[in-house]
Amino acid sequence: MLDPYGRSITYLRLSVTDRCDLRCVYCMGEEMEFLPRAELLTLEELERLCRTFVRLGVRKLRLTGGEPLVRRGVMALVEHLGGMVEAGTLDELTLTTNGTRLAEFADALKAAGMKRINVSLDTRDAETFRRLTRFGRIDKVLDGIAAAKAAGLKVKVNMVALKGVNEDEIDSMVGWCGEQGHDLTLIETMPLGEVEGGRNEHYLPLDQVRRQLARNWTLEPSLMRSGGPASYVRIAETGGMLGFITPLTHNFCEGCNRVRVTCTGRLYLCLGQEDSADLRTPLRQSEGEEAIEAAIREAIGRKPKGHDFVIDREHQRPALARHMSVTGG
Ligand code: SAM
Ligand code: SF4
Repeated sequence: MLDPYGRSITYLRLSVTDRCDLRCVYCMGEEMEFLPRAELLTLEELERLCRTFVRLGVRKLRLTGGEPLVRRGVMALVEHLGGMVEAGTLDELTLTTNGTRLAEFADALKAAGMKRINVSLDTRDAETFRRLTRFGRIDKVLDGIAAAKAAGLKVKVNMVALKGVNEDEIDSMVGWCGEQGHDLTLIETMPLGEVEGGRNEHYLPLDQVRRQLARNWTLEPSLMRSGGPASYVRIAETGGMLGFITPLTHNFCEGCNRVRVTCTGRLYLCLGQEDSADLRTPLRQSEGEEAIEAAIREAIGRKPKGHDFVIDREHQRPALARHMSVTGG
């Protein structure tokens, strides 16, 4: 699948639910209205959709949400999709999770063929974690990360860098991840969805963070690409990789190889644009694959060149009304 700019689309991020057991302040409002269950694709439909994308050239599949591990029965989906990795039709099956239920699922994820997972952890301080997630308990997440490591899953920690919230913890997170053998990716906040309190006041540009980190750590340039939007350095002292996702300060769209599908079967061509295509109707219309393949191809044919995120004082409103938990991170 080639888009109009010659980018080959090989990476699908699939949101399996919009629900979550946390309410991170930058991601969701306190009172969220979730989709009625009837609107969701069934697990069988999600699987069929994934198989179609793989047939059309997708080689990497990431399950996300909301919190993917709160979707009932999700492990059956993971196991079936893992079969494609075993069969060699898919290079990688992975997951982004908040980690609260990882202790329960880590072994099964590994057994299903996952090798690496991303776990979001913005702070290691219990009180800051509770405030950031509105009520979350950090011990569950730390136990989950430990279980993932024990199961033999390579963990990448995702940390959203927030001014005045966790900026003074970034250095120690680099050290802790190094000790634990986890890679770390820092993420700038993106203006997605309405949340209480401005997001702008917590926006922390990562070039500033990087300069600060360079005082304490040797950051060696790296050409590593994970197939995602991060650019990486290697921390010489720990051997760990440190990624930076900077959608606002730098344009990461040039090499974009991904599309996203929501749990209702809506295909988004760009995280930062509204344009989307309905895949649920063609999926339910016929048992054959023609209609669904045609809908995907038609949509890829209009994948935009890039996003237009802006955070500044004049733009107090989110760039997009859609929350990250709808399209998935
Ligand atoms: N619930 C899972 C989790 O938290 O990892 C998966 C979904 S979550 C939407 C995926 C990632 O998006 C998380 O790492 C989260 O921190 C990040 N995220 C959510 N809202 C964001 C925003 N407005 N800006 C930047 N990152 C955001
Ligand atoms: Fe839930 Fe993940 Fe959003 Fe936090 S970032 S509220 S864990 S979906």
